[in-house]
Amino acid sequence: MFIVPALGYAYDALEPFVSAETMFRHHAILHEGYVSRLNAFVEEHPDMARQLGSSLVNMVQESKNLEPEFRDVVRNNAGGHINHTIWWKTLCAPSDTCRYPAKLEAAIGKEEVLKQRIHAEAKKRFGSGWVWVVRGRDRWHVTSTPNQDSPYMREQYPLFGIDLWEHSYYDEYGPCRENYIDAVWNCLNWRSIESRFNKAARKR
Ligand code: MN
Repeated sequence: MFIVPALGYAYDALEPFVSAETMFRHHAILHEGYVSRLNAFVEEHPDMARQLGSSLVNMVQESKNLEPEFRDVVRNNAGGHINHTIWWKTLCAPSDTCRYPAKLEAAIGKEEVLKQRIHAEAKKRFGSGWVWVVRGRDRWHVTSTPNQDSPYMREQYPLFGIDLWEHSYYDEYGPCRENYIDAVWNCLNWRSIESRFNKAARKR
């Protein structure tokens, strides 16, 4: 049984950049939807679920081997669950954030440069998806995925992402996705992102 992880902060913690209403709908309704559809799949198809393995990373990586009608259920809902789980963890109240870590600057580049690369990549992502900072085979780079596809499906390790679905910004920013990216940048939890960075370094 998969469960929606607790946010670790209040629904209104990201205000004024992201509203409590958006956070509630996003976490308690949309993320909950991914998890309950994933649990329903596991319950209805125990053999396929066993074949996928029990970890979410395995599930998204192995989903490509399923029949198309099942493949998309797992790809979208396990992907939605894993992406949002990272997302909540790498956000925090703007008052709880810290400076962009020196370690990230050394490995990935200056904060302002990274932000511009993220803007440029997000602009290229037509429709729904995510923009990510990932570790590929040998380096960190900025990329994006469509829908709820996870960088893990491409054997990339996601350091952090920004949700580009309209459900994450439309109430506050309308069609101005750039303004939302600038705003949510104030809520990035660099401490938590740095610990994900350290985890990736240990894996190599
Ligand atoms: Mn979302």
